[in-house]
Amino acid sequence: MTIREGISKGSDLVERAISFSRRFGRIEGVDPEPIIRWAVKIGGIIDKVCFSWLIWEKRKRKSLCKPCFLGVKSLVDWNFCPRKTFLDTTNESGYYMRYIDIKGNFLLIRGDLNDKERGLVKCILYFINDVADGIAAVPAMREDKGQEFMRGLKNVLGWIDKNYPSPKDFIGALLDAVRKISEFPDLTQDDFELLLKEEKKKERGGSLTDEEIKLLAEAWSENEDQERGWISEHRFAEDYPTIGLYKAWGNHVIVGVPDGIADSFIYEYKDTRSEKNLKYVVRDASLQADIYSVLLPRRKKRIHIHIAETGDMRIIEEETNPEKAKEHVDMVLKAIDEGEIPQKPSGKRCSVCSDREICDRAIAKIVREWQISEKENLTSKVTERYS
Ligand code: SF4
Repeated sequence: MTIREGISKGSDLVERAISFSRRFGRIEGVDPEPIIRWAVKIGGIIDKVCFSWLIWEKRKRKSLCKPCFLGVKSLVDWNFCPRKTFLDTTNESGYYMRYIDIKGNFLLIRGDLNDKERGLVKCILYFINDVADGIAAVPAMREDKGQEFMRGLKNVLGWIDKNYPSPKDFIGALLDAVRKISEFPDLTQDDFELLLKEEKKKERGGSLTDEEIKLLAEAWSENEDQERGWISEHRFAEDYPTIGLYKAWGNHVIVGVPDGIADSFIYEYKDTRSEKNLKYVVRDASLQADIYSVLLPRRKKRIHIHIAETGDMRIIEEETNPEKAKEHVDMVLKAIDEGEIPQKPSGKRCSVCSDREICDRAIAKIVREWQISEKENLTSKVTERYS
């Protein structure tokens, strides 16, 4: 989730973080309020100026009026309801952010950036990943952790001030750095393996308290099911290293983060409210793991399911099926390119769908936007939007 999305859930989150962090501020001898507000503002700039602008540039080059970056999970949601996949196309900026995160990390590991570029890439990744979570978790942090977080944030903002005294220079440099990351050649499977090897060296797990888990789940989840799933995953999922993966696919780029990547299998964790949904949950988790196995080859998948109403766990281990995954992705991307909005499903699915409140309104908006950005209008629209 981007900082902007965090804020759109209400400035409440920021206000809460500020009020709780005052105690760290006093200890540090600094006022946390300007630090947090400034950090949130920079997050917004990275998201709005860099991500939105570069996505439009990319689409313009490809003469693509449909979203370029799509999430693996939303491609799987097609099985539940194809409209759900269309709805998720509005999250393109989040998938682009993950793509930048993956390539940026690789550039840092490869080490062929000069000092200033390195600082800027680190800063971008810090704002993409750590700040939003940190601000959400501040109210639940222990004092020592809170101090550490505020100190880190203060240092990054200090680095920006020192190197970019003018906001205009800073925004220009950010845009150049994100563009440079975006245009870096696509990573190969060996590159992903290298990223995974680095990830294995890092210490994992155990860093969040139950209170932090609950607070983050509350801040980042859109509904009760998501919140339950988030908490369940943080409590019960097996601990494997993982990295973000992506693959250019026709005119699109598909992006996702498996729950775990072992040497011989892809791990997927799911939480379901009741046993009666189990068959569908297994089907979707299995397809998701198959798609990941196309992005990073693994012969096996390990599906781990927690059934909330009974507390039971199911583990399924099978061979991956990359061919089936490719067929599914080709079919969904073709439907998106054709842009025909799918029918609503029959039966009770809408009544249990987490998107039922926004579905009709959001679909109408997507159709309007896609019509506006048809090829001939795309260039003028880009200029108009960002001039
Ligand atoms: S509300 Fe109904 S039509 Fe809309 S995404 Fe959900 S299941 Fe599909």
